[in-house]
This record gives sequence, structure tokens and C-alpha cells, in this order.
Amino acid sequence: MVPVIALVGRPNVGKSTLFNRLTRSRDAIVGDIPGLTRDRQYGEAKWQERSYILIDTGGITGDEEGIDAKMAEQSLLAIEEADVVLFLVDARDGLCPADQMIGEHLRKRNKTTLVVVNKVDHLDENIALAEFSPLGLGAAVAIAAAHGRGITQMLELSLGEFPKDIVDEVDLDSIVEGEDLKRVPGPDAKDGIKIAIIGRPNVGKSTLVNRMLGEQRVVVFDQPGTTRDSIYIPFERDEEKYTLIDTAGVRRRGRISEEVEKFSVVKTLQAIKDANVVIFVMDAREGVVDHDLNLLGFALESGRAIVIALNKWDGMQPSERDYAKKELERRLYFVDFADIHFISALHGTGVGHLYKSVQNAFTSAITRWPTNRLTQILEDAVREHQPPMIAGRRIKLRYAHLGGANPPLIIIHGNQVESVPKGYVRYLENTYRRVLKLVGTPIRIEFKGGD
Ligand code: GDP
Ligand code: GDP
Repeated sequence: MVPVIALVGRPNVGKSTLFNRLTRSRDAIVGDIPGLTRDRQYGEAKWQERSYILIDTGGITGDEEGIDAKMAEQSLLAIEEADVVLFLVDARDGLCPADQMIGEHLRKRNKTTLVVVNKVDHLDENIALAEFSPLGLGAAVAIAAAHGRGITQMLELSLGEFPKDIVDEVDLDSIVEGEDLKRVPGPDAKDGIKIAIIGRPNVGKSTLVNRMLGEQRVVVFDQPGTTRDSIYIPFERDEEKYTLIDTAGVRRRGRISEEVEKFSVVKTLQAIKDANVVIFVMDAREGVVDHDLNLLGFALESGRAIVIALNKWDGMQPSERDYAKKELERRLYFVDFADIHFISALHGTGVGHLYKSVQNAFTSAITRWPTNRLTQILEDAVREHQPPMIAGRRIKLRYAHLGGANPPLIIIHGNQVESVPKGYVRYLENTYRRVLKLVGTPIRIEFKGGD
């Protein structure tokens, strides 16, 4: 599971500045998602091959009446969802009553906390750190978020203990044309394809999970872990193995299905990271909204294979259906490689067809393409359309090989590869997608220079 880090502290201590610095290099920022997540921002970041989810909170002011209520409203949830809390304080302001109040709370919750003393530019670090030692929270680190100072040490202290991401490195010698991972025992092979059902609140995820598992005899044990964790439900259909990642917790036995548990951004993001294939559910009656796009963007950025389900297709007028289809085409052009299904989770219409798309997307995502095949496609693509000249020298692309799966990573070797224009990368991507007949999975292309 990807670790979750929450930034907590008074307003103006530099939480957003730190959030932006840590997530800046990536597009994977999930904006506000309605429901229980007001005033929080979620993003994904990576440090030394460790992915993590970052939550920024609006800030807790000490002067307010009803501080406890405020805490409960949003920062508290972020604290609960986090594995590690980065408790930001402002070195210039020194220790404030609000800091003490937040510190008290964290101590009570027994949360793994790192005190992060920000804005130490022009200040003596040791004096700044000493100022906050009365918080009694143990480890502290001095940083200047705005200038990037101390960030490495901060990350080392908060993430160093977590394992590195498991990267599906492709063993080049073992590549056999068309052979896919599913048939070769891998770490996940016994559980089959891991499917996450993802979508905004009320689009019909729980209904779909129930529908998909309805005919199955599933035994769900009350798995250990906190309410933060999704449950993993293995099942078989037509002799094919799957594991459904249930973020909505519908099959959790003996738990009160509180609203808090029903939709959690953290659970959603973690399920996306952990899945092979995401079934992305939208509500046909509401159309595509920005929150859908945020979540979908996160799934693509994470490299997941995707199947789109436009739910609540029952009882819609033909004109409404036409409109919904047009909207989908217009707004989801960036994921035009994914299969779209018009379904009714409530009545079961179309649900069975999802499996074929899940399998196709998964197979596309994990097939081992041999080096000579990928190089041949590259040569043909270059012959068809030369890459541009840079300062009088033409970019040379020599050979390609597979570097990873789910998503497929194609590594292209050549010269001046840092100058390959974005449009040309897209052309190569589209060519690979078309020739290899890839459906439902994003592809990554990486260049290596100097040979
Ligand atoms: P938030 O309310 O906790 O999210 O705080 P912001 O990130 O919005 O920062 C509040 C102010 O502090 C902004 O004016 C930032 O430019 C400033 N700030 C953030 N980090 C630093 C820093 O390392 N040094 C200095 N001098 N100012 C900083
Ligand atoms: P979740 O929050 O995404 O898990 O959504 P739910 O599964 O709880 O569904 C939200 C509401 O939409 C419930 O009232 C469902 O009965 C309703 N709903 C779900 N699927 C369908 C569908 O296919 N058609 C119609 N008409 N309503 C649906």
C-alpha cells in the first residue's frame, strides 16, 4: 500500500508551498472532491522510488472558538487517514498556542509525527528547532519550503522506512512473443486481475460491486486493518480469477456503513495505485464533471488500465442518451483508447460485458513484446515520418525495447533524444498503440541517449 502523508498546521505556515514543491514535478494532483473532503487537496509524489499520497489541509487556527469542531471537520480526517503526519510550524512566529493544541491532539492520537519547522531561511536552525521542543513530539526537522532547503532530510525521516515501489521490471531474456504475465506466475498471479471500482460518490459503485458479486458465492472475512483500508474480494467468473477492490466497503461485515467510510479519497487513490485495471464509473444523468476528470487523470497518471462504465443508462430518453454520448466523446478524448460501456448497475444490463474489456485491457497492459518487434515498429514509424532536425542534425532513434508492464513502458535509444518534440512522442505512442492493437492501457515512452 502506498503510504499517505498529511500536512497539518496553522494557516500560513507553508503547507501549500510544501505541497506544491513535493508534487510539482507531477500532474497527479487530485483537486477538491465533494463529499467529505472540503478544503483538502490530494496529490501524488515520489521520492527515491517510493510513491506516496500527500494530503494538504486547510489549516487550523488556534484563536477560533470551536477549534475541536474545526479539527474534526477536515484536518482530523486527514490525520486519521495518514500514515505519517508532517506537523508544520513557522520558525518566524515561534511556538503558538494553536501549535500546542495541534501537538496535543497528535500526541493523544499516537500518530507518527514529524515536526517540520519551516521558514528557517535567514535563521539559525538549531535555535529554531529548540524553540519547538516543548511540543514533546520527538523528531523535528528544519526546512525552508520556499527554497527547497531541508526537504531531503525531511523525506528521509518520514519515508525512509517504507519499502520502495515494486516495479515490474521486464527480464529482456525471457521475452517470448505475445506471452503475457497472467500465464507466468508473478506476484499477483494467484489473485488474478485486480479490479478497482472507482468513481465519485453516488455514481453507483456499491450497486455495481454488489451486482458483480451478486451471483458469486463470496466469503468476506472481516479483514484486519483500519476502516481506512479497502477490502479485497477474490472471485472467479468463467474460470477466470479476479480480485475486486471494494473502496465503498459494501461487503465489510459487521461494520456500520457510516458516510465517512463510504467515500474516501485516500482509499480511492490507494485502490487505483494497487489495481491492474480500473473500472471507472460515471453517472450518465450527470454527465462528465470536473471531479470525474480529476480522478480519471490520477488513474491515467498512475498508469492503470481503464474500462469506462457510464452507469444509470436505464430509463433515459434517446435524446438524453445521444447527448450523454456526445459529451463523453468531447470531454474524454484523452482516454479514447479505453472501452466504454453503457450500463445499469441497478438492473444488471451491460455489466457482464465489462469483463471482456477488463481482460483485453489487462492483456494489453502486460504482454511481453520482444525487442525486435518494438524496434521494427520504430523503424517503420521513423521511415514514415522522420523526427525533426535539431541545430542541423537529425534526431536518430535506433532501437526500442520493453522496460515495464502495466503500463507498458517502451524505452527508445538514440541521439539527441532530449529534443524529441511532444508531438512526435505522441505519434510514436499512437503508432505503437495501433500496430500492437493495445486497448485500454496507457503507454509510456522513455528515451535513452548516447548510443
Ligand atoms: P499554508 O496556509 O500553510 O498553506 O501556507 P502557504 O504555503 O500559503 O505559505 C504562507 C506564506 O509563507 C506564503 O507567503 C509563502 O510564500 C511563505 N513561505 C512558505 N514557505 C516559506 C519559507 O520557506 N520561507 C519563507 N521566508 N516564507 C515561506
Ligand atoms: P456509490 O456511492 O458510487 O457507491 O453509489 P451507490 O451504489 O450507493 O448508488 C447511489 C444511488 O444511485 C443509489 O440510490 C442507487 O440505487 C442508484 N443507482 C445505482 N446504480 C443505478 C443504475 O444503474 N440506475 C439507476 N437508475 N440508479 C442507480
